[in-house]
Amino acid sequence: MNDDFQFDTLAIRSGHDRTNECEHSEAIFPTSSFVFESAADAAAKFSGDQPGNIYGRMTNPTVGYFQKRLAVLEGGEACVATSSGMSAILAVILALLKAGDHIVCSRSVFGTSTVLLNNYVLKFGVEVDFVDLVDLEQWKNAVKPNTRLFFAETPSNPLTEIVDIRALSDIAHEGGAYLAIDNCFCTPALQKPLSLGADLVIHSATKYLDGHGRCLGGAVVGSEELVGKEVGGILRSGGMVLSPFNAWVFVKGLETLGLRMRAHCESALKLALWLSEHPKVSKVYYPGLKDHPQHELALTQQTGFGGIVSFEVKGVREDCWRVIDSTKMLSITANLGDSKSTITHPASTTHGRLTEEQRAESGIKDNLVRVSVGLESFEDIRDDLARGLA
Ligand SMILES: *Cc1c(COP(=O)(O)O)cnc(C)c1O
Repeated sequence: MNDDFQFDTLAIRSGHDRTNECEHSEAIFPTSSFVFESAADAAAKFSGDQPGNIYGRMTNPTVGYFQKRLAVLEGGEACVATSSGMSAILAVILALLKAGDHIVCSRSVFGTSTVLLNNYVLKFGVEVDFVDLVDLEQWKNAVKPNTRLFFAETPSNPLTEIVDIRALSDIAHEGGAYLAIDNCFCTPALQKPLSLGADLVIHSATKYLDGHGRCLGGAVVGSEELVGKEVGGILRSGGMVLSPFNAWVFVKGLETLGLRMRAHCESALKLALWLSEHPKVSKVYYPGLKDHPQHELALTQQTGFGGIVSFEVKGVREDCWRVIDSTKMLSITANLGDSKSTITHPASTTHGRLTEEQRAESGIKDNLVRVSVGLESFEDIRDDLARGLA
């Protein structure tokens, strides 16, 4: 593949090795194992002397297309695909940490990521400390001799806070830790964490990479050493691999990623501007607004502001639920990054498993609504929200 090609071209053309059937569109290989020409061929492939497919838990051509394409788009040497976004995070932790090691994690990561660390990773003797995403002093002060991993999501869910990835990677590396960035909200179409110093990029492919709310999946991108060898090794033994069908859905999703992200961004900015003028809305969270605390950083670190807009409705939880329940077109669902606009009450759903104290620390108020702005006509999205706010 020509390295000079630009993002949209690479998203459509990279990663596909055409087979002898000369297919134009990427093929799905629904097979659990692969056959060998002889016992000697099998032995050579098992020993690693010969490259080649052995078994679906190790490699599958369709999964390979997705991995190669996403690696190119993120600018990483290697990518491994996983069965979900959460298994991508788990695989990174299993691959890079051992008992006695320490993780510093942003307080405003995806709710289930917090649950994974607090309820399960701790059990294995790994220490975890949580800090404010945007407060670099807190990250610096949290570093201990056994710190091995920094984990952050930027922009954060649902409040769209943004951390300076370059500065955070410097702090991580000074402390002898790797920096992993969950790039779910921006995707490589809007932000490339590896080019800003991050060591690992984590994805929930379930969101924008699919883009149509069809499949669960995830991925980790980074160096051959860290991702190809270490994270890939855990997947081959742990088995949280992506199915060929889901990989194919993501391969096709990537082809329109740039186009879709530009459209998501355009409607989200219009919606954020409209909401900030609305008398029933007390606060709007969107990096494209000039009063967003990291608006300037977003302009340099990202090439777009993303498709997620959160806002606080004047009043209490009931007022907020009324806005959600009055919509006729928006889907009340926890997914995001879909062509369909979705609306969620984070405090009682995605972040409902956090304690009240953890929610308060993360700034998730009871009157907060999150909208993942889809690809429907903007006027219809706006009018659907206007009804409940009226
Ligand atoms: C959804 C999500 C995840 C988890 O991904 P799954 O595919 O649902 O396992 C992780 N991080 C972020 C930011 C997400 O939005």
